[in-house]
Amino acid sequence: MTRAILHCDLDAFYASVEQRDHPEYRGKPVIVGGDGPNERGVVMAASYEARVFGVRSAMPLAIAGRLCPDGIYVPGSFDRYVEASDSVMAIFEEQTPLVEPISLDEAFLDVTATEHLFGGAVAMAGDIKRLVRERCGLVVSVGVASNKLCAKIGSDLRKPDGLVVVPAGEEAAFLAPLPLERLWGVGPRTREVLSGWDLRTIGQLAAFDRSVLETRLGEHGIDIWQRANGIDEGEVQGEHVPKSVGHSHTFDANTLDTAKIESTLLRLSEGVGRRLRDHALRGRTITMTLRVAPFETRTRQRTLREPTDDDVTIYRIARQLLRDALAEDREGGRSSPVRLVGVSVSGVTAGQQLGLFESARHARLNAALDAVRSRFGDSALDRASARETKERRRFSGHRSR
Ligand SMILES: [Mg+2]
Repeated sequence: MTRAILHCDLDAFYASVEQRDHPEYRGKPVIVGGDGPNERGVVMAASYEARVFGVRSAMPLAIAGRLCPDGIYVPGSFDRYVEASDSVMAIFEEQTPLVEPISLDEAFLDVTATEHLFGGAVAMAGDIKRLVRERCGLVVSVGVASNKLCAKIGSDLRKPDGLVVVPAGEEAAFLAPLPLERLWGVGPRTREVLSGWDLRTIGQLAAFDRSVLETRLGEHGIDIWQRANGIDEGEVQGEHVPKSVGHSHTFDANTLDTAKIESTLLRLSEGVGRRLRDHALRGRTITMTLRVAPFETRTRQRTLREPTDDDVTIYRIARQLLRDALAEDREGGRSSPVRLVGVSVSGVTAGQQLGLFESARHARLNAALDAVRSRFGDSALDRASARETKERRRFSGHRSR
């Protein structure tokens, strides 16, 4: 399957945060890294206005001071950069659970599973750029491609405020005219070997004899030859897959009304299903939690063969677990009023491919309802009541599972 990968990289990040927070710095050369041009140490970031003078990241401050003596030199405020980074990463995480932060100002996003929800990867890149500007007051460059290599090179190509799209199938053609040093794994030593063969561009390397590269450079030779041909199988390593997704509700007054408890459970199941789908997650274990007066908690769970994100599936199982728990209560001669009911899904994994046991109809219905609700708010649809009527018809008589 063709993947959809975004590489998002904030432009002149530290310097841009300074310009955002100090309007008087805007349009001026800002150099982050020390109190003044004569400090020891290096430039951590330079605004684009400072780059005009030749100031670059990692340059000794003393040299920056000579190139740009009238620049604004600031020591930098790491706390504010972390805060800005967190709010930008939160925007990325709204798009997909597969976010791999590379540094404070840079991340890969795999949007393969979610792009259909947001009108495609290119539209998502545009949305991200707009949201980062609106919510964080910062500018991000984005590369869109079928792999990390092309996305990363793409994001860097038209900075600042860049958006470069590499269509699937055109990876090698995109890379061909670029100089070899753009390619991962081509450091000074490798470049020396390659220039011995008169190779200057990535395209020249791609067309070069692979076996000669292998003989001279071993595994590394094959790696860079593959990359030069636009091949990169590296995966985006998401790190924020939650262990479980759950909702619960505490009743204003303890209740014995089964219909009320079950309709609450339906609403909660819909919330859980929606959150799973929002983050392109699915889970296998459904847990129903019941708290009865005064403070006794009962949990019951069931594990499915296939992970799900479907409201009806979650509800059907949670309701059965609830009925089992209440029946056991009654058999034990108790009938304690219910204070709280909850449902959660654990054993969560990323990815939205349809399970074998789930109908495409449910998936479409859920997606359509999610779209309506995200546009008009939760109250736009009172699906609970509509669904419940239908559910009663569908599942009446299904007392045992
Ligand atoms: Mg950056």
